[in-house]
Amino acid sequence: SDVLVLEGISKTYGLAGPAPVPVLSDLSLSVAQGEVVALVAPSGAGKSTLLHIAGLLDTADSGRVLLNGRDMSGQNDRTRTEARREQLGFVYQFHHLLPEFSAAENVILPQLANGVAEGAARARALDLLGRVGLSHRADHRPAQLSGGEQQRVAFCRALANQPSLLLGDEPTGNLDPATSDRVFDVLMALVRETGLAALIATHNLDLAQRMDRVIRLGG
Ligand code: ADP
Ligand code: ADP
Repeated sequence: SDVLVLEGISKTYGLAGPAPVPVLSDLSLSVAQGEVVALVAPSGAGKSTLLHIAGLLDTADSGRVLLNGRDMSGQNDRTRTEARREQLGFVYQFHHLLPEFSAAENVILPQLANGVAEGAARARALDLLGRVGLSHRADHRPAQLSGGEQQRVAFCRALANQPSLLLGDEPTGNLDPATSDRVFDVLMALVRETGLAALIATHNLDLAQRMDRVIRLGG
């Protein structure tokens, strides 16, 4: 079944103003459960806009966004925020971990915000960190970790609340090529183990080829 469906999405910035910027025009795509889709686009083609719309952080001018079969397009902010918290995980080029907190705490906190009990949240955090090879780093703060380790913690945080869809914006784009490769493998293994659907934007064609399907935007 399709976890994410975008139907006829159009988006123009400054639609009512003097200098409208058309970005997406009648775009449709879907991502099925367990499928990892690469989104490859030249800079400025609207990759971030698309991820923001799919991630319910922004709205399209027209078209529909279905998440697990539910049309999210016309829903109010509260419903969209709830769906985002419960069903979506995000990973970015930069980890955005909380610097004052340990790796484990960074994975625990979003679970507490979702009402998970502390013991269960800690157990899940340690399990996830173990899967990405960071059991020995659980009590370290982000600044004590290497770039690749920081991104791996960010993956664990993204999966903390067991989302059904992972959205990635160049999740290994800030790492040197060899580290990027290794860390991408870790991400793929994690996604495969959890049966997640994923839509991952990348400029790296080698990484894109390793996903199940490639969608090209613009260019
Ligand atoms: P990408 O992520 O593919 O580089 P973006 O989705 O960030 O592209 O942006 C696509 C186009 O829309 C670019 O030309 C960008 O300058 C423009 N754009 C993005 N955000 C805004 C905004 N808030 N207002 C006006 N134009 C924007
Ligand atoms: P990488 O090979 O991923 O670039 P680094 O060379 O940055 O990693 O670091 C190697 C190891 O040293 C990593 O396991 C990292 O966690 C650890 N490390 C780096 N900086 C610190 C620090 N300030 N405190 C504790 N451990 C650190």
